[in-house]
Amino acid sequence: MTNRIAYTKPSITDREVAYATDAAANGWGERCYDYLKKFETAFAAHLGTGHAIATSSCTGALHMGLAALGIGQGDEIILADTNWIASVAPVRHLGATPVFVDIDPVSWCLDPDKVEAAITDRTKAILAVHLYGNLCDVGRLQQIAAERDLYLIEDAAEAIGSQYQGRRAGSIGTFGTFSFHGTKTLTTGEGGMFVTSDTGLFEKVLTLSNHGRSRSQTKQFWPDELGFKYKMSNIQAAIGLAQVERIDDLIARKREIFSKYRERLETYQGLQLNPEPPGTVNGAWMPTVVFDRDLGVTRDMLLAEFKKTSIDARVFFYPLSSLPMFTPAKQNAVAWDVPERAVNLPSYHDMSDADIDRVADVVRSFLR
Ligand SMILES: *Cc1c(COP(=O)(O)O)cnc(C)c1O
Repeated sequence: MTNRIAYTKPSITDREVAYATDAAANGWGERCYDYLKKFETAFAAHLGTGHAIATSSCTGALHMGLAALGIGQGDEIILADTNWIASVAPVRHLGATPVFVDIDPVSWCLDPDKVEAAITDRTKAILAVHLYGNLCDVGRLQQIAAERDLYLIEDAAEAIGSQYQGRRAGSIGTFGTFSFHGTKTLTTGEGGMFVTSDTGLFEKVLTLSNHGRSRSQTKQFWPDELGFKYKMSNIQAAIGLAQVERIDDLIARKREIFSKYRERLETYQGLQLNPEPPGTVNGAWMPTVVFDRDLGVTRDMLLAEFKKTSIDARVFFYPLSSLPMFTPAKQNAVAWDVPERAVNLPSYHDMSDADIDRVADVVRSFLR
């Protein structure tokens, strides 16, 4: 019986275990924020951003960031139709209107021309999600946001290790968000981070994250406004600190696995892999294959074959507008087409070359 290949798996070493153990044994009372502070500082330093606030999830970080910008009823937020629901749920929770636009067929991220065409008087922000580690066209989106006086927000949950002209994904827009869910490049089990270099915005989110209690408020149990409770625990942060101390290795290994897939697949015709345009680095969170339409490969065929060979394949995100809580936007032709003939490939730190060969063999079996 061959081993089952999972699509992701965290890399947990003695360091994570030691820090978590220390936090569990000693991280209480006056020390209850020690690992949190260290993790936030180390993560901000890695990213090159001014401020970082650890949260219980990326969804929570996004919710607070949008709320701090005053986004609500009547406001429109532009994002790609191809996305995980976590990116759009906070928009709806705040009463704002998500506007789904089509993706670029190469990056699978926001198509800047479609973004421009979707802007109205009500548009407040462009939510750029760097899908699977692929970067959005940050330069053009920044230009559009500046010209039309919009916020550019980065959901960089999938883009740890990705860089645009030397700047790390998540550190470029008005604010950025990250997820440390168990499937992500850096994990704390569940968890997230809000990052910004805007000190005013940081203070607002810090207050919101503490049930609306400003850190300058001296009265006990006195919220000045209605806030949120999306905090990370010190024990999770202990694991996070160990992970961020290993971040270069975690990213390098993701990139190495992707390049091994690329070596094994790129000489074949009929498929497309994650791009890495000049001036960018792809953090390679999730190696992905899109098969040419004329090969006739379907999602069901892919899932069946991977299942047969004990490999956990992951479907490419369905268009958000195809989900029951939204209105179908079939004019987003690329977003509706690509997932029908695409699959995410397994990638995790301790994956062996033999595992990579096994996965690549399955992909190749569809090519000839
Ligand atoms: C994983 C992910 C999220 C959700 O993160 P949580 O920590 O589960 O809230 C949000 N956005 C993107 C792009 C993701 O990949």
